[in-house]
Amino acid sequence: NSLPKDPIEDNYTRQVNNAAYSLATPLKFSESSFIHVSKLATELGFTEEQIQSPEFLKLFTGQYTYPNTRSYAMAYAGHQFGNWAGQLGDGRAINLFEIVHNNNRWAFQLKGAGPTPYSRRGDGLAVLRSSIREHLCSEAMYHLGIPTTRSLSLSLSGEEVLRDMLYDGNAAYEKGAIVCRVAPSFIRFGNFELAAAQSDNDLLKKLTDYTIATFFTDITSTGRDAYLQFFKEVTDRTLEMIMHWQRVGFVHGVINTDNMSILGLTIDYGPYGWLEPYDHGWTPNTTDNQFKRYRYGAQPEMGLWNLLQLANSLFPLIEDAAPLQDILDSYKTNYQVQYLELMMDKIGVYHANNQDRDLIQSLEENLHLHETDMTIFYRELSKINTETTIENAFAIISAAFYNREDLSELHKDTWLAWLTDYVARLQFDMEQSDGDKSAFTIARTEKMNAINPKYVLRNYISQLVIEDAEKGDYQLLNEVYAMLQNPYEEQPEYNKWYALRPEWARSKVGCSK
Ligand code: AMP
Ligand code: MG
Ligand code: MG
Repeated sequence: NSLPKDPIEDNYTRQVNNAAYSLATPLKFSESSFIHVSKLATELGFTEEQIQSPEFLKLFTGQYTYPNTRSYAMAYAGHQFGNWAGQLGDGRAINLFEIVHNNNRWAFQLKGAGPTPYSRRGDGLAVLRSSIREHLCSEAMYHLGIPTTRSLSLSLSGEEVLRDMLYDGNAAYEKGAIVCRVAPSFIRFGNFELAAAQSDNDLLKKLTDYTIATFFTDITSTGRDAYLQFFKEVTDRTLEMIMHWQRVGFVHGVINTDNMSILGLTIDYGPYGWLEPYDHGWTPNTTDNQFKRYRYGAQPEMGLWNLLQLANSLFPLIEDAAPLQDILDSYKTNYQVQYLELMMDKIGVYHANNQDRDLIQSLEENLHLHETDMTIFYRELSKINTETTIENAFAIISAAFYNREDLSELHKDTWLAWLTDYVARLQFDMEQSDGDKSAFTIARTEKMNAINPKYVLRNYISQLVIEDAEKGDYQLLNEVYAMLQNPYEEQPEYNKWYALRPEWARSKVGCSK
């Protein structure tokens, strides 16, 4: 509401001090066109007529500036792969404006609309393939019930972008694209880290006070208490977000502190991937191949590591390490409790029992014995009930095994032993609950299927969407988008996507830039 009077606006790359943002203007892409506008547009109150209008396209591809708004790029820093990286900032994101709709605040930003002071060696642009991956995945995550930034639209910029191809070392032109991302706020851990690293306590305090007053309105205390409560809430939200990732097998791939939303939203869909074979050691990020810092099994720990960096940044406002450490410790204990609860929910066992930890531990060991598709495994598991014979139970879960021809590798005896315990455990659960047996089984199946998705954005599905889209064919993109609106529903019309990853897709990985 109060715009700076004399904006100094320049896109040249530079070190920015004592500032939370710099004004920046999107490039004018006069040939831009929409590929897809998500249902978020309607959710935010835009009418069909507005969505179809030329102004809507111009607004969300950066050709038209909404009156009395000024676009800007945020300044932030971060730890990347465990190392301090200094100033980073929105190098290819430009924030347009915010709206308040039904009392909720939404900020709009264009990703890929040109350089900012924070572009460093980058061009501020984005290619079609990475933009498709961001657009589809952020909306898929939302429909999975996972806190995330949203995507309003995916557009072609109408211009080409030069990129080094990761695999053959050659540069090639690719179609440029723009995603319009939407979230209550895009503030990251890294924004606080930058102010703290510059020893700018005024900026740090301003930023923290603004964040609390705008987004953590339940915090009514002031001063140190407010900052501690703020840190506690960020800690809880971060754990909650990561537990959702673990639930669905989402591997972020670059959980650097500059990619950690202060609101606990999944942000920055770069080299992310979905577990196909269940594997704690898997990462989709080929640049993280050596240490696999951001592998699936390490995500909860990396969340904690990032929170420690945030705690260090907030320290000047609190000046007492002990309560910060207590909050970090609470993350660890909450994780232990929540992880067991999550796993029990995933296997559909609801009455706690002192053998639960053992049951889950042997399940995880079994899932690592032989390539077993995570999504299919949990979905099929809901078909097992107290009446199922152990042989049939094995036949049911076999649907999740890769390379089924080599039966000797399936470790059948180990699985039969686990399934025997599991079916006995289901029997125990049923005895604990009063009422009708078949109603118990039906309710259990429904509960399991409401948290174990049938459809996720498998890496090869994105790949197929991208290949068609590069040729100007968006039918598959629309189909996959529609399917991912209801990931927990049976949707038999999409059954071909409820299948093991085809062999040709084995080595295909996501690519971010
Ligand atoms: P990321 O690995 O996507 O989190 O990006 C790390 C940093 O690099 C952020 O500051 C990004 O804004 C910046 N960046 C990534 N790609 C580009 C690009 N094509 N042009 C300018 N900056 C970029
Ligand atoms: Mg980033
Ligand atoms: Mg990125």
